[in-house]
Amino acid sequence: MSDENTEFDLIVIGSGFGGAMFAAPWVEAGKRVLLLERGDWVPRDERCWDVDASFDLTPYYSTLPPYRVAAGSKPRVIGSCACVGGASVFYGGVSLRLRREDLAVDPAIVGASGACWPLSYELLEPFYAEAERRLDVAGTTGVDPTEPPRSTHYPQPSQALSRAARLVERGAQRCGLKPFPLPLAINYRSDHERQVCAACRTCDTFACAIGAKNDLASGLLPALLRQGLSLRPGALVTRLVEQGRRVTAVEYFDLATQEHRVVRGRTVALAAGALGSAHLLLSSRLDQLNPGGQVVGRYLMRHCNGIVFGVFPRVPDPQREFHKQLGVHDFYFGHPTVREPKGKLGSLQQLQTPPIGLVRAHIPRALGTIAAPVIERMTGLLLIAEDQPQHDNHVRLDWQTRDAAGLPQLEITHRYSERDLAARRALGKAARRIMRKAGAWLTHTRTIETFSHALGTVRMGPTPETSALDAQSRFRGLDNLFVVDASAFPTAAAVNPSLTIAANALRASRAALED
Ligand SMILES: Cc1cc2nc3c(=O)[nH]c(=O)nc-3n(C[C@H](O)[C@H](O)[C@H](O)COP(=O)(O)OP(=O)(O)OC[C@H]3O[C@@H](n4cnc5c(N)ncnc54)[C@H](O)[C@@H]3O)c2cc1C
Ligand code: SF4
Repeated sequence: MSDENTEFDLIVIGSGFGGAMFAAPWVEAGKRVLLLERGDWVPRDERCWDVDASFDLTPYYSTLPPYRVAAGSKPRVIGSCACVGGASVFYGGVSLRLRREDLAVDPAIVGASGACWPLSYELLEPFYAEAERRLDVAGTTGVDPTEPPRSTHYPQPSQALSRAARLVERGAQRCGLKPFPLPLAINYRSDHERQVCAACRTCDTFACAIGAKNDLASGLLPALLRQGLSLRPGALVTRLVEQGRRVTAVEYFDLATQEHRVVRGRTVALAAGALGSAHLLLSSRLDQLNPGGQVVGRYLMRHCNGIVFGVFPRVPDPQREFHKQLGVHDFYFGHPTVREPKGKLGSLQQLQTPPIGLVRAHIPRALGTIAAPVIERMTGLLLIAEDQPQHDNHVRLDWQTRDAAGLPQLEITHRYSERDLAARRALGKAARRIMRKAGAWLTHTRTIETFSHALGTVRMGPTPETSALDAQSRFRGLDNLFVVDASAFPTAAAVNPSLTIAANALRASRAALED
């Protein structure tokens, strides 16, 4: 095992929202920061528009290490995004804050889990504003009926709605709802060096061919590299080494040279995602040093998602342009028309008409040809129901099975509660009504059982009895380890998580820097 002489001020593991945002204030303060990322840069050119450029069809969907699913999804082995910028490279850019009430304890959601955010919305608010500025989010203030208080306007205004978005907007308005333009991390400015969004149909699940999506690999990370960040792609971290209440070294497997290496740092930020971070903590046996270690790997959440497609008599998107633009939050905290479940339900968001080639790639060729004319007449609504934190939903290690880098196999068990499923059904009913009012002839509903919104597993909280991280995202029992990605969430809320991961990482980073 080779050694390296430098001791970094900060080592960050994972270059997604948690890792990149935690790194930023330290790099800007002139600290020596090393970012270890198992993936590589995703090239940006016209190949990003190909049908096989959707994330799970690319080499950037990694099964090293493979995650085995014991219960909760059809593919029994799943991977996750592995590239510089993490899942942000392929994400949809939707940048919503949690609602103020999401950070308070809601007994109907939390049940007996003991989940409790140790932060108020007011504490996070300035960091939401900073995250929106760093991601240059385009949005409209005052139109989302559940919008929490804001200290700033969005950095960029929303764009005009496309034809397909206006169609769905009318449907929602005919139902008496208040649809609003989704805040999006996309570049619409023509006055700087980055390209302006071309409103193509391949955004969510694809990397942006022209770098107009404000993902971390297009915006923040290149800026940090210019300011002195050291980034090591192809570095698969295998162990965090502890000595006397501190992580003193990080071991990684260099995927290019197939060698094991060690680096040393004074502070370590773990941001390998909700599956990856729990994996590393358990395989390094650090849960055993944490007085709240019993929750490490537990309370995995992923939202209870589905899609309602409306099939329209005429092609809703003849210009074939970007239209993932609308949100509907009237059902977020429940709705008088919904009897079960009472209380919080979740959000609805417009989805792109899927590119025909992508559908063909997922179904047999003959069926793809028959389905093509129908797909062109579809537009969708994504259902995001809040799922409950449950003790039995967990990741665990199978020490007998090891991957190429020597890591024990991670096994996932996840089952939705009755309440989760009922909330999704209620949202599905609302979405079908919107589609019909928009003029859809028929609707098609499908559930989504991916882990693309994986949350929890190393949750934060006010006490060690119920949480492994304190309010600064510090791993209890170790003075210099912070866990700052999606794993820190005590509850899932029902909006896309990236902006909250970013805000929490920025907050934790500044607190650690001042320590
Ligand atoms: C297709 C898709 C669309 C999405 N759309 C949206 C959206 O519109 N809005 C939104 O808010 N959210 C969206 N999400 C969810 C959002 O992208 C994730 O919640 C978020 O990126 C998670 O950030 P993270 O920092 O926790 O982890 P990640 O982004 O997963 O980053 C973790 C990083 O750690 C690296 N890593 C893992 N293990 C190791 C290891 N052992 N050694 C070294 N590196 C390691 C990974 O390669 C990865 O780069 C989407 C997700 C997907 C997949
Ligand atoms: S819609 Fe805009 S930001 Fe999204 S992939 Fe296309 S060009 Fe890029």
